[in-house]
Amino acid sequence: MNLKILVLPGDGIGVEVTREAVKVLRHVAEASGHTITLSEGLLGGIAIHKTGTPFPEETQKLALEADATFLGAVGLPEFDSAPPEKRPERGLLGIRKTLQVYANLRPVRSYKALIDSSPLKNELVDGTDLIIVRELTGGLYYGTPRGISGTGPEERAVNTMTYTRSEIERVTHMAFQLAMKRRKKVTSVDKSNVLENSQLWRRVVIEVAAHYPDVALDHILVDNCAMQLVLTPKRFDVVLTENLFGDILSDEAAVLAGSIGMLPSASIGAQRPSGAWVGLYEPVHGSAPDIAGQNKANPLGAIGSIAAMLEYSFGLTAEANAVYKAIEGVLDSGRVTADLKPKGAPATTSEVGDAICQAVAVLESRK
Ligand code: NAD
Repeated sequence: MNLKILVLPGDGIGVEVTREAVKVLRHVAEASGHTITLSEGLLGGIAIHKTGTPFPEETQKLALEADATFLGAVGLPEFDSAPPEKRPERGLLGIRKTLQVYANLRPVRSYKALIDSSPLKNELVDGTDLIIVRELTGGLYYGTPRGISGTGPEERAVNTMTYTRSEIERVTHMAFQLAMKRRKKVTSVDKSNVLENSQLWRRVVIEVAAHYPDVALDHILVDNCAMQLVLTPKRFDVVLTENLFGDILSDEAAVLAGSIGMLPSASIGAQRPSGAWVGLYEPVHGSAPDIAGQNKANPLGAIGSIAAMLEYSFGLTAEANAVYKAIEGVLDSGRVTADLKPKGAPATTSEVGDAICQAVAVLESRK
C-alpha cells in the first residue's frame, strides 16, 4: 500500500513530537512492506512568520491531495495578543474546515504502568477506557455573528453557538457506530436545561439512537459530566458532545491518562469508497512553550495519533495494534518522559521515539 501523508510539524513541541511520530511511521511502514510518500507543509505560527498567514494556500492544496494529514501542534506566545485571524490557532480551524473533518475522536485509557502518574486515586482510574467524540465544525467556534464592537463601557463581544440537525445527526451516527464496536454505550453531553442549542442536540441524538437498538443511550449535563469524569470515569464508554464542551472535557479527561502528552486524537470526515476515512491526526496537547526546544516533551500522544491514522485512514489494524502494543511495552519499561514522573532519570523525547521503534521491531520479529 502507498500511504500519501502530509506532515505539519507546526510550532513549539509540535516539531519535536512530529519528528518522533514520523520516525515511528517510517519504521512501521518499512517493517510491514508499505511505501509512504510524505509531504511537509506550514501551519500556525511558523506559517505566519514565513508567509504572513496561519494557513497558507500551499498547505491547503497539499492537505487536499494527501490521504491523511498529521499535525504536531500550533501556537506561539508572541501571537497571544494578535487579532484572531492572525493567530496560529486560526490555522487549525482552517485545516479542519478544509478537510471537512467533523468528528474528533479522543480515546482515553488508563495504562497500568501510569496509574501512579494520575493525581486521582488508583481505584478510581484503574480500568478507565472511554472515547470522547467531539463535534468539530459547528458550535461557538464557527458560529456567526461573532466579533468585538463598540468602545468604552459599551464595548461588546459576541459569539454564536449554532448547530443544524444534519451536523448533529452525522456525528451522532459516528458515535453510535463506534459504540457498536466497544461496550455499546453512548453518553450524550449537553446543557439542555439552559440552551436551546442543546435542546435540539438532545432531540436529534434520541432520534438517531433509535437506529441502534443494541446501544444504550444516556444524557448528562455538561457540568455534571465534568464532575463525573473524575469521580466515576469507568461509567463512560463513548462520550458524545458538541465542540466547546468536548474541547474542555477532553483536556480534563487527560488527567485520567496520567498526562496530556499521552493523548492521541483523530479528526474524521467523509468516508472514501475504499472504506477509509479522510483524517487529520494530532496529539491533544498544544505547543507547550514552557518546555519547547528542550527534548523533554512526551511524544506518545503523537505516536498514538499515528496508530489512529493507520487504523482509521488506511484500515491497517495490525500495524496500528503493533504501535499501541509498543506504547504499552515502553510504558511498562519505565523509560518515559518527565511528565510521567518516572522512578529514575526521565527519558528524552527522542529516546522514547527510539524505544517505540525498537519495541515495534521486537513485535515484528515475533510474528
Ligand atoms: P499545552 O497543551 O501546550 O500545555 C499545557 C501544559 O501541559 C504545559 O505545562 C505543557 O508543558 C504540558 N504539556 C503539553 N504537552 C506535553 C507533552 N507532550 N509532554 C509533556 N508535557 C506536555 O496547552 P497551553 O499551554 O494551554 O497552550 C500552549 C499553546 O498551544 C497556545 O498557543 C495554545 O493556543 C496552543 N494549543 C494548540 C493546540 C493544537 O495545536 N491542537 C491545542 C491546545 C493548545
